[in-house]
Amino acid sequence: MEEEKCPKCGAPLSEITETPTGRRLRRCSTGVWNTETHKTDGCDYVKWLEIEPQTLDEKCPKCGEPLVLQVTRFGKKMKKCSTGGWDKEAKKATGCDYVEWINGTTEKLDEKCPKCGEPLVLYTTAAGKKMKKCSTSGWDREEKKATGCDYVLWLKAEFKPQEANGEEFLPPEDIF
Ligand SMILES: [Zn+2]
Ligand SMILES: [Zn+2]
Ligand SMILES: [Zn+2]
Repeated sequence: MEEEKCPKCGAPLSEITETPTGRRLRRCSTGVWNTETHKTDGCDYVKWLEIEPQTLDEKCPKCGEPLVLQVTRFGKKMKKCSTGGWDKEAKKATGCDYVEWINGTTEKLDEKCPKCGEPLVLYTTAAGKKMKKCSTSGWDREEKKATGCDYVLWLKAEFKPQEANGEEFLPPEDIF
């Protein structure tokens, strides 16, 4: 691996670490995440590695250029126009600004809602959380309120707090 130095203290950077949401980063080798204080001991420099956007077989509805699939630091997925970019110096978007956030997926279940008897669906959020909800439930975008049956059951099986690695406490990076 290429020897890279920390711009803050000059120590070498450590190996690439992967977060639970699939983002990759390199910390300063003198920095150690302290699970008790939830702070970094030593140098707190973190270098986020870019996730290569994946080109999709879909065209931008605004300009006709190909769309790319991008994953944010928090594991949210979106489709955006391949001509769109971010000018770090001017802090403004460049190119085409088409963005489509990808929400979770819905699967039909062979189970009935205990509240109203309609079928349940399994909803997986973009970040991988799962819940069972009633197939009659919806969201009224105009009124900004839930419609239909409100039965929801979150599935907590995959929740492992002891595996928290402090990712959520890391310093913010520029958007996307
Ligand atoms: Zn450092
Ligand atoms: Zn476009
Ligand atoms: Zn229901």
